[in-house]
Parts: sequence; structure tokens; C-alpha cells
Amino acid sequence: MKKKQFKAESKKLLDLMVNSIYTNKDIFLRELISNASDAIDKLYYESLTNHKIKCKKEDFFIQVDVDKENRTLTIFDNGCGMDMEALENNLGTIAKSGSLAFKEENEKKEDISIIGQFGVGFYSAFMVSDHISVTSKAFSSDKAYCWSSSGAEGYEIEEVEKESVGTTITLHIKEDTKEENFSKYLEEYTIRELIKKYSDYIRYPIRMNVEHFHKNKDSEEEEKVIELETINSMVPLWKKNKKEVKKEEYDRFYQDKFMDYEVPFKVMHHSMEGVVDYQSLLFIPSHVPYNFYTKEYEKGLELYSNGVLIMEKCSDLLPDYFSFVKGLVDSSDVSLNISRELLQQDYQLRQISKSIENKIRKELENMLKEEREEYEKFFSMFGTQLKYGVYDQFGKDKDVLKDLLLFASSKEKFTSLKEYISRMKEGQEDIYYASGESTSKIALLPQVERVLEKGYEILYLTDYVDEFVMQTLMEYDGKKLKNVCVEDFNLDTEEEKEDLKKRNEESKDLLECMKESLEQEVLKVRFTNRLKKHPVCLTSEGNLSIGMQKVMNAMPMDEKIEAKLVLEINEEHPIVETLHKLYKEDLEKLKKYTKILYAQARLIEGLPIENPTELSTLISDVLIEK
Ligand code: ADP
Repeated sequence: MKKKQFKAESKKLLDLMVNSIYTNKDIFLRELISNASDAIDKLYYESLTNHKIKCKKEDFFIQVDVDKENRTLTIFDNGCGMDMEALENNLGTIAKSGSLAFKEENEKKEDISIIGQFGVGFYSAFMVSDHISVTSKAFSSDKAYCWSSSGAEGYEIEEVEKESVGTTITLHIKEDTKEENFSKYLEEYTIRELIKKYSDYIRYPIRMNVEHFHKNKDSEEEEKVIELETINSMVPLWKKNKKEVKKEEYDRFYQDKFMDYEVPFKVMHHSMEGVVDYQSLLFIPSHVPYNFYTKEYEKGLELYSNGVLIMEKCSDLLPDYFSFVKGLVDSSDVSLNISRELLQQDYQLRQISKSIENKIRKELENMLKEEREEYEKFFSMFGTQLKYGVYDQFGKDKDVLKDLLLFASSKEKFTSLKEYISRMKEGQEDIYYASGESTSKIALLPQVERVLEKGYEILYLTDYVDEFVMQTLMEYDGKKLKNVCVEDFNLDTEEEKEDLKKRNEESKDLLECMKESLEQEVLKVRFTNRLKKHPVCLTSEGNLSIGMQKVMNAMPMDEKIEAKLVLEINEEHPIVETLHKLYKEDLEKLKKYTKILYAQARLIEGLPIENPTELSTLISDVLIEK
């Protein structure tokens, strides 16, 4: 029989498993039992529509046997089984390429122990065994096959005899080493504990042959009896009474099911009766999933109908802005035979999804109110997703989300819009914001200086979605949201406005001349009194701010967009006098100075300089002439 090689990435993971330095080798059993349970789910679900399959829910079980003499541990299930092709595809390759990618990414960093908890599934059995055989018969097939492997050298598949549909996995347990006691996996006690610990909620009986000692009535002697016992309680965690479930149980359930190496940040367990009946068990992770902000991330909840899994990722159950929530929903109101397409139009499902959304929102609102620090932690991880929800679909959901938003400001590390308003100065009518790369950079913007000086608080927007959020919200509680870096932002009194207008008019020719020397770069050049010590700044006119221009141009689009720029010059700065003088005496030089001033303003805004060489020449010219 020919030995086959593992696919490259499988081999890598396999090597890791065989030579694992991971301390928690126990999890292999959980992985194999989960697979067995999934296989039974599949067969049961199939039987609901395929009447050729005759089986009853009560007939299903998983059995674990130990054989000390032969050093084997066997896991049996009467689930869907695998045919030749499935054995080849499932056990010769890694199904979850994500786990490997994650591992590679993180391996370098620190903790290799992560891998063991990361759904490496079947392969984890190689941590404790030196030979594995998988004998399986698929429900659709009349032939059975045996897959076997001793690890990295490869695997073999041969046809064998097996009467019933299902899978038997036999692990030959490694010999003990100085560091490692593998023989414990041949102890009934250990296996029993592991099943209790990791697989208690599995909904099919996990049976074991358990030794009991009975007193013989006649002889009064102790005698050994072996009885088949069901080890797990089989009650899914979500069907249990909330009061009876310990935090550790939720944590373990979450880590196991969603393959996370950290315990969840928040657990939400609900049992609803009313328009629709359902139980839900939802989690917010303690860290942002490594692929969360990529296209690969799929949102969704597991959907069960009365304890039977009918869909692994039902995306309709979660709005996009809560896509970070993981978990499951179980409802007797959802039909088992429902198809994926129908699901979307299903009335019951829509009710459930609405109700779940409310629950999550209330939980977050509550956290914001009662556990502020926790909420800030949460918001640092997933706040961007909530903000995205505000402007998504033209702001359809902005009202339900606006109170969940936090921003940095000139006064606070985190503030909600409501809190900002509560601190507003008397006479302040609008909410002010400015955007930039970091709060410290924003604080240095010349436009910001004056506003702060007048004692106003400014929201500091550093997230790329923030400005879109502001433009979608437009106002909060009747207060307009205003960017202090746009041209028409003005804190002046009528008198000051008039005065400035006059000064601009008086210098119309000079400003026009400056504008022309910048060719098409700016919409206009004008004097301003919004600046304190800086000579210049850039503002924008119209809906598109400079910040938004940056964000949009960073996206892969063919056409670059341009904000309408205004070069503003501090009317109180000594440079103004120089400009006037040059306008009279040396237009060439005025042109050069204007270009330098414009470049300065671009630099302050963090905009690129199109022609740095030209700028460098201009500056050295000025330096020489001095
Ligand atoms: P995962 O379970 O995370 O997909 P595994 O490596 O544990 O990855 O298993 C790979 C695949 O092999 C499973 O997705 C399943 O299709 C199949 N499989 C594993 N164990 C069984 C089993 N006991 N019965 C039927 N199929 C199985």
C-alpha cells in the first residue's frame, strides 16, 4: 500500500502537534468528541429530510473506551461517517486554514500555548499518540475505509469491513517520558474527568465502560462489574438556569466553542418567552479577532432548533455593527427544515434578531452607565464597528447607536456626546470637533489653538470613520456638530466678522495674486483671525474635509478626490507686512513666499508635498538672499 504525503500546511501543524511543548495536551479528547458530536448532528439533520436514513435521536451516542494492555484509547460515534474522499480531504488537509495563519502570526510573538486551544482539531490527537487509525463508514456508502498514520511521514487508506455507519478513532497512546505521563490517558478516571470538564454539554450521551465493585450477596465478597455509563449531563449550557451556571462554565464553553485562548469579556445569557421563544448565549470577546477588520471575518450566530444545530453562522441574527458578538440562539419556533434562503424571510427569525439586537444594546448601555471603565475597554476594541454602524446605510441606525459612542476630547480621554454637552460653556451652541492622526497632533493644529483659548472643549477625532460619523449624525440633542477646521467655522462676533471682511477686501489684489501663484491648488487665499501664533493654516470649503480626503484617497479607488482648500493667513502675524511689501516691490519673491507658506500649511495638515525638490530650492533661495 502506498504511503501518501500530507499537504504542506497540514504537515507543519502536524509537526507542531507531534513535538508539541504545549502543556495542556488534555484538549485532544474534547476535539475528538466535538467532531463526533458534529458528525451525529450532520446525520440527524440529514435524516430529517432524507427518508432513506432511518434513525432516531435516542439511538445516537459516542463511546470512549480504554485498553491499558494495548495502550489504546478509542472514540466511537454513530454519526455521518466519512467515505474515502472525505477521509482524504478532511484528514489529509487542514480544514481551518485560519487557525494555521493565526498560529504562524502569533508564534513569533510569545505564547506557543495558544495553538492547543485553537481548533487544530483532529491533529491534536498526535500530541498524545504515536499512531492513529480512523475507521469510518459514511451513511451514503456501503464501503468502509481505514485511515492510519504515525505522524509526519504520511498516511495510508485501505478498504476495511465495518458494519454500521459511523467512525471509530483508535489512538495508540505514547510511551511515558521523563517529562510526560501519557499513561494517564489510559486511566478511566482521567478520561471521565476530562469528559466532565470539557464535554459535559455535548447533547448526545458519551458513554464509558465503568468498573464498579459490588458486594456479592452470597459470598459477601467484592466483585468487579463493568457497566456502561453516560458521563455527560447532556443539558446544553444555554438551556440551564442562569443562576446555576458558574462563570467558569461559561468561560470554558466559550473558549471551546469559539476557539479562543482568552475568556470572554462579557457573557449574555437570555431565555425569552413571548412573541417568540428562544434561549441565547452571547459573548463579547476580550480581544479583537485577528481578522475582525478584514473581509474574511464572518459575523453570525449559531442557530439551533430545539437543540439541533441547523446553521453554523446565521448572519441574519446580528446587525453588522454588532458583528463582534459570538454565540448561539436556540428556538423551538424556528423550523428544522427551513432552508437558508427562506431563513432570511422568516418572520420568527426576524423577531428573534430584533430582540437579540435590543438585548445587546441594552447590555452595552448598561455597561456604559454602570461600569464605565469596562465600557471604555470594550469601546477601544470594537468602537470602530459601532461608528461604522452609524454611517452605514445612510445613517439608518444612527439613532440607536449615537449614545453608545465615545470620543477623545481636549478635556477627556473618553467622552460621550451627552457628557460633552453637559460640560458646554454658557453660550456655546454647537459641538466642536477636529480630526487628525493622533490627539497630540490635533492639539497642535493652529485652527484648534484659538478655540481652546476661548475655553471651548473640542472632540479629537482620530479614527478614520469619525468624520463620516459626524457628517451622518449632523447634530446631537439639537446641537450641531461642527468641524473647527473648515472655512466657515467662525467664533467671531458680528463686529469682528465685519472687520475681517474689510481687511480681506482691502487686500483683495494681494490675495488674488497669491492665489494665482499657487495655480489650481487652492480655492482661495484669505486673512483669518482664527490663528494665534501660527502664520498659516489650511481649511476646506464644502462637505468634504481634509480629513475625509485623506481617508478616501487611502482607499483603493481609481480617482483621487480633492477637498476644496483655502489657505488662511494669520492677519496678526508679521508675515502679513512682508507680503504687502513684496506685493509692491517684488512679485517674483511674493510668489516664492506664497509657495513656501502653502507648503507649511500642508505639512501642518499632514498632507503630502507634491514637489519636495522645488520646495527645498525655494527655501534655500530664501536662506541665501538673507
Ligand atoms: P474541524 O473539526 O475543526 O473542521 P478537524 O481536523 O477536527 O477540523 O476535522 C476535520 C474534518 O474531518 C471535520 O470538519 C469533519 O468533516 C471530519 N471529521 C472529523 N472527525 C469526524 C468524525 N468523527 N466523523 C465524521 N467526520 C469527521
